Amino acid sequence: MSKLKPFSLLSFSRQDLARFCLQIESEGLFEIDSGKPGPVVGILAHTHGNEPVGLAAIMGLLAENALADRLKVGKVLLIVNNLEAARRFYREAEGQTTTAAWRFVDQDMNRVPEVLAGESYELQRLRQVLPYYQSLTHVLDLHSTSAPSEPMLIQSENAPDLSFPGVSIQLQGIIACLRGKPLISLCKQAAGYVVECGSHENPESWRLAQAVSWHFLAELGLLDGPVVLSEQDLETYEIYQAVVFPNASYQLTKILESYEFLPQGMVLARGEGEPLVIKQDSYAIMPSPRLRPVHSGSEFLFLATRKERL
Ligand SMILES: [Zn+2]
Repeated sequence: MSKLKPFSLLSFSRQDLARFCLQIESEGLFEIDSGKPGPVVGILAHTHGNEPVGLAAIMGLLAENALADRLKVGKVLLIVNNLEAARRFYREAEGQTTTAAWRFVDQDMNRVPEVLAGESYELQRLRQVLPYYQSLTHVLDLHSTSAPSEPMLIQSENAPDLSFPGVSIQLQGIIACLRGKPLISLCKQAAGYVVECGSHENPESWRLAQAVSWHFLAELGLLDGPVVLSEQDLETYEIYQAVVFPNASYQLTKILESYEFLPQGMVLARGEGEPLVIKQDSYAIMPSPRLRPVHSGSEFLFLATRKERL
């Protein structure tokens, strides 16, 4: 009987995360190997530099050898994906209300081109970690949102259904709407899961990321733990469109809240050109707390319909 509580969640301050991140050497990768055969599970942090949730999860798993002492089978790779953007974020972005400028160094690491050729920081980094991604059987990529939001799950097509504590909303169809492949698509063999854990710098999001990570490993059989298989129905939103403004003159007609209902016919945005009108009753997914994107030409929000519960 282990005296350790498998799912004890730790509270970190931003300074804790910053200190940890700025000390990471070499490849930004931590490998914990049970020495026994089993799944090879990747837990990925900071695909976006301004999203600390995954780093909190990694710190929780590494603290006092918590994971190493409990791992029964298989191997876990903890990877800080966009290490340089994260370092810049911790060095430079403290106290900033908008941190989108620290999302990446040269290009969005979560919009992967067909060929990883090029000298941007992110493409070099992807080439560096690609062999590790390709060794994974399961991958969990931890993200957060700029606006407060209920946690959300996105999973790859080949991924079996798993439950995640505190996550009651699933997004379908989003991968097809992205302007580029998501990073988890590089983990070719792996069943892929992305959890949007809440807003970027909310300590509750950081705790949720830890809970989700422990639970993921327990549910995949890598460690003993009180896997609470939730019976709750997932509320499912089917994303049908990413909103990309035609040019930099456009802005929303108002700030939107997460999951806000957008009736058919509503004018979503205006600019020099045709207004953007909502074509069918929809819900706003991952809106930003601003009227126009920081990075013009990026997906500013997503439009979804809600699936009726069975
Ligand atoms: Zn993200």
